[in-house]
This record gives sequence, structure tokens and C-alpha cells, in this order.
Amino acid sequence: MVNIEKVIAIDGPSGSGKSTIARSLAKKLNLLYVDTGAMYRALGLVGSKRGLDLQNEEEMEQFISKVELVYEGQTGSLVLIDGENLTHEIRQHHVSELASKISKDPHVRNYLLEIQRKLAQDRIIVMEGRDIGTVVFPKAFCKIFLTAGPEIRAKRRFDELKAKGEKDISLQKILQDVIERDHRDQTRALAPLKPAEDAIILDTSEMNLEQVLDDLKDIVEEASEKKTVELC
Ligand code: C5P
Repeated sequence: MVNIEKVIAIDGPSGSGKSTIARSLAKKLNLLYVDTGAMYRALGLVGSKRGLDLQNEEEMEQFISKVELVYEGQTGSLVLIDGENLTHEIRQHHVSELASKISKDPHVRNYLLEIQRKLAQDRIIVMEGRDIGTVVFPKAFCKIFLTAGPEIRAKRRFDELKAKGEKDISLQKILQDVIERDHRDQTRALAPLKPAEDAIILDTSEMNLEQVLDDLKDIVEEASEKKTVELC
């Protein structure tokens, strides 16, 4: 019986700073970084390209039984589906919606759960998502839940997408999408977005990246000492 899992679990809604923070932390500690949202995005995108109804459980079951998803964390976060590299395409704004739709499906969640657990079999990892501390690794030695107000998260998403050259987006539309997606993620029956009971909650609304990273480093160090996890 395993009493702790060697995982730094970082959960939270979109725009909370999760991805940037988790990636930077993994780099700092020289650990594998796993972006589980990228997996949901890739399946949503491919399912949609193949003309599937993402809300239809039978179609999803068929799809999942045949598809092969590969995640490579070492080179950033490379996601391949049936050999096709989707790393960049999945970042487009409309793909968030597809990921959120597909994420309610039990076949999709079970399929990804297995892939996610395997990634931590023989190393310490930093994994970010919505249900890492609650479902994927309930015994993770360190659990952090990042959050921030919806307006601030929408503004961060907007700036990020603009910087990537995405056109035809407005702050108002992003805010509306953020609120809708939060609601869908928080109210779904399976693995809803919520902090684990033993997670440390950090509101990043008034913090910059450096401040969040500093706080996180302290939280991780304290947890690793308490649970005697050697980080390097
Ligand atoms: O993190 P990101 O915004 O890329 O995630 C996209 C969507 O994938 C989320 O809105 C959520 O619906 C879904 N997701 C999930 N569980 C995870 C990671 C992402 O349901 N662990």
C-alpha cells in the first residue's frame, strides 16, 4: 500500500497561472512537467476534426478504444495523437471549449487517468490540471490549488492569446468563456474542479509570477521535508 505519491499536484481554473507556474517550478527542480489540460485539448481537437459528437458517450467510447495519445514532457509538452503532433494547434482559443466538452466523458477521463498515472511510475513529477490532487493522485505529497478572480484570469488569457497573434478575440468574450468553462468544470459529475481537502490554496490575483514561484518553492520544500521526499 503506497502512503504517498511522489507528485506535486497543481490544480486550478484556467488563467490562475497554473501552467506557467507548474512549468517554471518543474524546470527549477529539474522534474518532469505534465500538462493534463493539453491531453484533453488534443482529444477534443481530434474528435472534432473527425466529425464526432463530443457529447455522445458511445461515439467517445469507440474513439477512445482506437486512439493513441503520447505525451512527452521532456521537450516542453509535446502531444501526439496517432502520430500527429498537436502541440501548437491545441493552444488556439476555440480548443478550450472542445476540451471542456470532452472532459465530462467517463471513457475519456479513464483513458487519460491511466496515461497520467503511468507518467509518475518511476520519477517525481509536477502535474497540473483540475483533478490531480483529488482523483489522479489523491496521495500526492504536495497539493496546491491556484486561483484568481475571473476578470483577472480573463485578462491574463486575453494577453496571452494576443501575444501569440490570435485575432478576432475580445476581452468580453474571453471573460464570458472563462465563466462558462469554470461553471462546466465545477459542476460536472465526474472529477469536478475543486481543491482537495489537504491542498494549499493560493490566490494569485494580486501576485506576480516571481512572488507565486517563491511561495510555491517554500510550500514544496516544506512538504518534501514533512513527507521525506528527496527532490533531487
Ligand atoms: O488546463 P486547460 O485550460 O488547458 O484545460 C482545458 C480543459 O480540459 C479544462 O477546461 C477542463 O475542462 C479539462 N481538464 C480536465 N481535467 C484536467 C485538465 C483539464 O477536465 N485534469
